[in-house]
Amino acid sequence: MEIKRIGVVGAGQMGNGIAHVLAVAGYEVLLNDISDDALTKALALVDKNLNRQVSKGSISDDDKASALARIDTTMKLSDLGATDLVIEAATERETVKTAIFEDLVPHLQPHTILTSNTSSISITRLASRTDRPERFMGFHFMNPVPVMKLVELIRGIATDEPTYNACLGVVERLGKTAASAEDFPAFIVNRILVPMINEAVYTLYEGVGSVRSIDESLKLGANHPMGPLELADFIGLDICLAIMNVLHDGLADTKYRPCPLLVKYVEAGWLGRKAGRGFYDYRGDEPVPTR
Ligand code: NAD
Repeated sequence: MEIKRIGVVGAGQMGNGIAHVLAVAGYEVLLNDISDDALTKALALVDKNLNRQVSKGSISDDDKASALARIDTTMKLSDLGATDLVIEAATERETVKTAIFEDLVPHLQPHTILTSNTSSISITRLASRTDRPERFMGFHFMNPVPVMKLVELIRGIATDEPTYNACLGVVERLGKTAASAEDFPAFIVNRILVPMINEAVYTLYEGVGSVRSIDESLKLGANHPMGPLELADFIGLDICLAIMNVLHDGLADTKYRPCPLLVKYVEAGWLGRKAGRGFYDYRGDEPVPTR
């Protein structure tokens, strides 16, 4: 089955990037959100990010114009009935996602594949609330979508091979690389990355190193492009904590206990870059460690 038209539900940080890369790759995209404002902002952001690609010479002005022309927006989920694949990228709350799938299913054609960009919610559980668990899977892009090369493809317990292969074909057409993951908490990237960040916070909490010495150590000693605390600020400390909680609850292993210092930063509202302060203070000209 050839995938031509793709619906994207949720036009936030991830949804606009997903619409962008799909349109550049030649797919017809229908972007949906409950907020008209989110749709307007998403289109403006896609336009801005396409301009950046034009100025770098990676696409032409004509490519940009035709990509933009391939993105349509709608506030009605029923309009997604004509799509071959839906990528849900709405707010990370299970009740929100379940309600979207339940509203969507009656409008879909039998062949349409449903996917979710969730970072943490069980694909198998989401799939079980639809009429097509065999044609349901996880389609997990990394942030920022136009830049990051990886997509995790997550099979739910019932996902069939044609569905997996159809999604793999989309990833390849985007020029990205797929990593196949089974449906367990935090999948692959976050299962490995976020406990490492949590361990860096423990290292700070126990006084083994300062913010700067921990980040410098991993950059110069392990060749990481960013230090773990700097990276935590980039991701958002609330997101890091939420992922640790998913691992702790889902795997019931004390090795995933969130560091009390991470909890403290989140309680303070020091959530990282987006809040102006996290392990570094970003309010001046240069980031300054907060501990
Ligand atoms: P966001 O808050 O930027 O955007 C969510 C959008 O969903 C908002 O525009 C909101 O209006 C919309 N929305 C809420 N309810 C809706 C509904 N019923 N119907 C349609 N739209 C609805 O969130 P985000 O960072 O783009 O995250 C979206 C998804 O992607 C989440 O599942 C998240 O876990 C996942 N994800 C996020 C990242 C990241 O770094 N931010 C990385 C990978 C995956």
